[in-house]
Amino acid sequence: MDEKLILEKIGLMKKFQKEKRMLRVKDRKQSLKKLYQNIKLNIGKITEALHKDLNKSEVESYMTEIGLVLNEISYMIKHCRKFSKIKKVVTPLSQFHAKSFQMPCPYGCVLVISPWNYPFMLAIEPIIDAVAAGNSVLLKPSEISPYTSKVVAEIINETFERGHVEVVEGGKEECSFLLEQDFDYIFYTGSTRVGKIVMQKAAENFTPVTLELGGKCPCIVDETANMSLAARRIVFGKFLNCGQTCVAPDYVYCHSKIKDKLIKEIEKEIVRQYGISSIENKDYPRLINLKQFNTMKSFIKEDNLIFGGKFDEERLKIEPTLISSTFDDESMQDEIFGPILPIVTFDSLDEAVENINNYPKPLALYIFSTSKSNQDKVLNYCDFGGGCINDTIIHIAGSRLGFGGLKQSGMGSYHGKAGFDTFTHYKSMVDKKNWLDLPMRYQPYSKLKYKIIKLFLK
Ligand code: NAD
Repeated sequence: MDEKLILEKIGLMKKFQKEKRMLRVKDRKQSLKKLYQNIKLNIGKITEALHKDLNKSEVESYMTEIGLVLNEISYMIKHCRKFSKIKKVVTPLSQFHAKSFQMPCPYGCVLVISPWNYPFMLAIEPIIDAVAAGNSVLLKPSEISPYTSKVVAEIINETFERGHVEVVEGGKEECSFLLEQDFDYIFYTGSTRVGKIVMQKAAENFTPVTLELGGKCPCIVDETANMSLAARRIVFGKFLNCGQTCVAPDYVYCHSKIKDKLIKEIEKEIVRQYGISSIENKDYPRLINLKQFNTMKSFIKEDNLIFGGKFDEERLKIEPTLISSTFDDESMQDEIFGPILPIVTFDSLDEAVENINNYPKPLALYIFSTSKSNQDKVLNYCDFGGGCINDTIIHIAGSRLGFGGLKQSGMGSYHGKAGFDTFTHYKSMVDKKNWLDLPMRYQPYSKLKYKIIKLFLK
């Protein structure tokens, strides 16, 4: 690890922030436009890298990574001027005569740490929001997706002025060293285990953090659901990127009455979407490495296998697989993060809500139901980051909904305005006029002053 080089990059960021603090919105937009153009010019390279890292197809790479990033840039270019405006607020009468306002200011130097599963989108999206808000960024992309991390670094270096956005490639060692440094904000996406380390490190410098973590996302299907449509949408959300999606339905939690029917529909959909032999499907991504492959394989047992289960170790591929589970099973202890879908049943929705609430709070939750009261029950009584009614994962695709978890699945959010706010400190200001100075707050106090104060403050 080249510590000197890393410190030099941080030094450049501090210099950039000192000299170009409050970078004009026009300049922020200019940088984002350049980023947009450079991404467009490099679509081929990005697609190739994603294919090498994860065997992602061209369509999936564009739909779930490149396209979403371009969309977020367009949104920010369009809205960042409005977001950056000073916001006037009403001043209490007791402060007469004054103006009150909130002034959006960048935090300064932001550290972004990203994971391997959507290695392009999850590295670039936080940068877009941070740059729109006027910050400098140091990105540490994942070492586990090296091809994409390299292309990301090239694009960043071509796009941004030195000190505006910097990249440090590397793994745990580099990341630990970066966490020792004093940044103004840390934005981390990855596992809950490492999220805890990041938060502990940030606490030493009182650095604010956003943590985008993982967890087990339940997918409830009740007896009123449209079964074939539910199956189609579950298969889409679960097996996209071979199940390596933080908001993928981790397990199906269905009413016992409909279990067999739902399984049949899901099996039909797997064949419809991935073909009879999904391993041979060239557009079906692979597991990131042998460790993940072996973890997935270990969940498949002779006595729990419902559908799928074939694998090819050389190509790190495992078929979309359904297994029968209960909450005590190994597959239900941690986030799965692969193409294994446990099917768990409940006999009443109250029981389902209680069991979900016994788990750490999930990043996402999905409910397939045509009963408004069942939908309401789940939305009102389960805590989770976000989700969908009668669909999966699409809530993260737009710039108008903030995206993030709570407690074990994270804190804070981003995308669109939520992202701009994440990387912005709002200075609350009162601009007091000099022509009048109401005397009641000053000593010596009197009965009359007390009476007037009570009139204002009630
Ligand atoms: P990870 O936590 O292992 O790695 C993420 C980043 O942390 C990498 O850049 C890595 O180099 C760094 N890192 C790893 N170990 C470290 C350590 N001991 N000290 C300091 N830094 C360290 O996560 P991952 O395996 O890359 O990603 C998978 C996890 O991320 C899953 O749990 C998934 O749910 C979650 N995830 C969450 C989101 C979200 O938006 N909420 C998105 C994608 C993935």
